[in-house]
Amino acid sequence: MNIDIELIQESKIDKVDFNNLAFGKVFSDHMLVCDFADGEWKTPKIMPYGPLSFEPSARVFHYGQAVFEGMKAYKDDNDDVFLFRPDENFHRLNKSGERLAMPPVPEEVFIEGLKKLLKIDNTWIKKGMGNSLYIRPFIIASEGAISASPAEEYKFIIICSPAQSYYAGEVRVIFAEKYSRSADGGVGFAKAAGNYAAQFYPTSLAHKEGYQQIVWTDANTHEYLEEAGTMNVFFRIGNKLITAPTNDRILDGITRKSIIQLAKDYNIEVEIRRVSVAEIKEAARDGELKEIFGSGTAAVINPIKGFKHQNETFELPDLNDSYASFFKDKLLKIQYNILEDKHSWRVKI
Ligand SMILES: *Cc1c(COP(=O)(O)O)cnc(C)c1O
Repeated sequence: MNIDIELIQESKIDKVDFNNLAFGKVFSDHMLVCDFADGEWKTPKIMPYGPLSFEPSARVFHYGQAVFEGMKAYKDDNDDVFLFRPDENFHRLNKSGERLAMPPVPEEVFIEGLKKLLKIDNTWIKKGMGNSLYIRPFIIASEGAISASPAEEYKFIIICSPAQSYYAGEVRVIFAEKYSRSADGGVGFAKAAGNYAAQFYPTSLAHKEGYQQIVWTDANTHEYLEEAGTMNVFFRIGNKLITAPTNDRILDGITRKSIIQLAKDYNIEVEIRRVSVAEIKEAARDGELKEIFGSGTAAVINPIKGFKHQNETFELPDLNDSYASFFKDKLLKIQYNILEDKHSWRVKI
């Protein structure tokens, strides 16, 4: 595959304090941009990271025709660089795009383009457990024309942001009673930009009450727990792990499916089924609810310390042998090439 390459004159890397990185604010020297026009994807370009210009009428601004992915590159002690299940991100991006009537990005543009970009910006990937380069591939409708129909021109872009291990502090959540993230037949399964914008307001209300996130419930009854804003959710009752099945309302997280596989590998009982608010509250009252945690690429696993539903609040116990830390340790060690990779999840660059 051809890629046009324009390298930066002088790297910005020396100006970056890698010990004090705010998530998603600093970007590496280069980005990949590939245009779709005249019914085809053109030759991708790797160029210096920087502003792009668009017509104010570009459809992405008006109709939110945009989808994205989130993934990471990891460096081991020998300076080898790895991706974690990148084919999953590639397929999911196009699955999201299909739902928003966007043309699929070719596999070689995504995978080969990303590998080339990471080779060029290799020094931005720092070794040491927890350090990574967060990768944000996305597609936007760039055509300038404000008729409410799918665009005929798109841009596929990959930008990269150095990240440190992500600690969100103690997380407490509200189980949603009024607002919904997604509905049957909707776009909840897609990483569609508008799904996130629509959560900002209800989440800001939760913040005012001292809760960091919302665990969304099914839109029809608000009786079943689905997922959090950017994370799938797991519950541990006794020694059993439970998570909701994915469907058209729930994002099919790669961390989630990896945890389910690891649970099977390590003989931890895991049930994939609907989880009701009533069941979780009852288990909490009985002392059977041991843990709740979220899973996603950014934080890997985020333990949830407590939750609120209607006017009741619940706190979860501190555990020495939590599943959250067990799975986080295993996943990180696979990602950083420390542990055997039985399922061929690592892809070396
Ligand atoms: C990205 C995302 C996740 C987590 O997916 P991973 O592939 O594990 O990073 C979960 N829920 C939502 C809504 C997401 O956007």
